[in-house]
Amino acid sequence: MKVLVPVKRVIDYNVKVRVKADQTGVELANVKMSMNPFDEISVEAALRMKEAGQASEVVAVSLGVQQCQETIRTALAMGADRGIHVLHDGELEPLAVAKMLKAIVDKEEPGLVILGKQAIDDDCNQTGQMLAALLGWAQGTFISRLEVGDGELKATREVDGGLETVALKTPAIVTTDLRLNEPRYASLPNIMKAKKKPIDQMSPADLGVDPAPRLETLKVVEPDKREAGVIVADVTELVDKLRNEAKVI
Ligand code: AMP
Repeated sequence: MKVLVPVKRVIDYNVKVRVKADQTGVELANVKMSMNPFDEISVEAALRMKEAGQASEVVAVSLGVQQCQETIRTALAMGADRGIHVLHDGELEPLAVAKMLKAIVDKEEPGLVILGKQAIDDDCNQTGQMLAALLGWAQGTFISRLEVGDGELKATREVDGGLETVALKTPAIVTTDLRLNEPRYASLPNIMKAKKKPIDQMSPADLGVDPAPRLETLKVVEPDKREAGVIVADVTELVDKLRNEAKVI
């Protein structure tokens, strides 16, 4: 089966995110961007399926600005076979992304779409679920284990207080959690090979989707600064401070 892996370009997880002076969003100029860490886990999961003879082709898809092609190239260097880039310069909300992914799924007919459980920039945790709803497909979210059978997948989900295993009929959607695997680094020869792999480019209009945002961001602010801590002499002083200063007991 063909596996489709959406990969989002986000601010690198090591970067300290700064709010723009006019509070309209976060600073993106001259900031290091990388593939969303959960999407690296998705690419790794798809590649392991291919290596085990369970997947025939791995297609990486990214939606957004021209530089998303770098994110797709990273997936190609890890081992994905080809890429699809939907070029759009403005903001993209999960619903618009899900609608465009649905149009791509209708064309590509994959047996499985592996998304990250959330993008670390907007923390929405919506795209996979919306895509499953739009397609009417089974979904296994936050998975930490994936077993591939004939026409069926077993996905182990990380839920509050434990693990839940669900059987999904394919075609299906899964979203990856941190413990699913440890993504590989791309080797130099594979980085070179990736340069020759094809990336198809299209627009939201080609997919028949209006990408205009449905939400308006009113204001973005920094979290409150934490005050410095104090070292207390003993338990009595700690209890006194909790009771009389913090007023939490
Ligand atoms: P979110 O719902 O925004 O938290 O994103 C969840 C997942 O949807 C991500 O981990 C990606 O797999 C996928 N996704 C969201 N936005 C994009 C995008 N612009 N391009 C490619 N994949 C995306």
